[in-house]
Amino acid sequence: VFAHVVKAPEDPILGVTVAYNNDPSPVKLNLGVGAYRTEEGKPLVLNVVRRAEQQLVNDRSRVKEYLPITGLAEFNKLSAKLMFGADSPAIKENRVTTVQCLSGTGSLRVGGEFLARHYHERTIYIPQPTWGNHPKIFSLAGLSVKTYRYYDPATRGLNFQGLLEDLGSAPSGAVVLLHACAHNPTGVDPTIQQWEKIRQLMRSKRLLPFFDSAYQGFASGNLDTDAKPVRMFVADGGECLLAQSYAKNMGLYGERVGALSIVCNTADVANRVESQLKLVTRPMFSNPPIHGASIVATILRDRNMYDEWTVELKAMAERIISMRQKLFDALQTRGTPGDWSHIIKQIGMFTFTGLNKEQVAFMTKEYHIYMTSDGRISMAGLSSKTIPHLADAMHAAVTR
Ligand code: PMP
Repeated sequence: VFAHVVKAPEDPILGVTVAYNNDPSPVKLNLGVGAYRTEEGKPLVLNVVRRAEQQLVNDRSRVKEYLPITGLAEFNKLSAKLMFGADSPAIKENRVTTVQCLSGTGSLRVGGEFLARHYHERTIYIPQPTWGNHPKIFSLAGLSVKTYRYYDPATRGLNFQGLLEDLGSAPSGAVVLLHACAHNPTGVDPTIQQWEKIRQLMRSKRLLPFFDSAYQGFASGNLDTDAKPVRMFVADGGECLLAQSYAKNMGLYGERVGALSIVCNTADVANRVESQLKLVTRPMFSNPPIHGASIVATILRDRNMYDEWTVELKAMAERIISMRQKLFDALQTRGTPGDWSHIIKQIGMFTFTGLNKEQVAFMTKEYHIYMTSDGRISMAGLSSKTIPHLADAMHAAVTR
């Protein structure tokens, strides 16, 4: 009965890893997926995460019962506090509802589905370009997906004018997806002054912000600094949605830990919204997994562990920043034609190199370097040892 099923294409990002795994070359390099690697090229489990897990294992009173539909209450509270700030009026006034979801992806999907059911304007604007999963998540949630200009290939920076024009001509009430920090794939973020202009425009047009926060702490190395744009939008008293992921900043990728928060006008509305969110998630996954959320709650509730986390997070962010400088220097040394300063200017895990599809294919074929076809490389997958090989490949690709 399934003989008619056609083979689906590989996922554009995870498919890169499949191709990498099939390559027997000893010099192969996977810069596709955005996962942090150590200087030795190994995946990293944070010490503070190991410590929290040990504590959880040693606690014999812990059981494996189901969580409530909305997840671990303490995790939800602490997650909202982490992004909105300890002194957030929205939290104090109980205007925020937070539900634990399956990492960032699940939080986006639940938020999208809630909007499709209960919000009057079912159009969401996503940046051009954006993380490849965004359009699929939101259209399957039942929203109509449109794009706004974001990246300018000529300057390899923000197309701020285009962004303002496109949001300015969006229908009143439309939802706008914003990367909270460290925009994926471009590594280009608005400045605080530009964020303020975006906020004013969006509020004046009643556009509804939906923040995707997959990299809090990874952009600047500081959790509060990276939360600033979101806090600006919450400080004005208006509504917004937030999808949070602990995949990158706590290295909990496969644990699938995240949360969806909806900031409402009043506590009463927040309460009703939460009751509807339960109707979205119950038939989707019934209730979320307990282990990862318990790790996060253990770390966030304990001052000492929280501080240890911030030190480890900063070290990851700084290693990435140092990789940017080293790659830039390596290209300078080789005299590679072109302006490569965007490598050090861009923010977060990725560099949007500007290499085209053909150049990427050449680097994969001749140098066994794997990346997405849009020329995005994960800086977190590089080390001092592998940078010369990458620089050689980039040099060959642009001079051939
Ligand atoms: N949003 C963006 C912009 C991302 O880059 C990612 C991870 N690549 C996610 C959301 C979701 O990741 P996860 O579901 O693993 O938390």
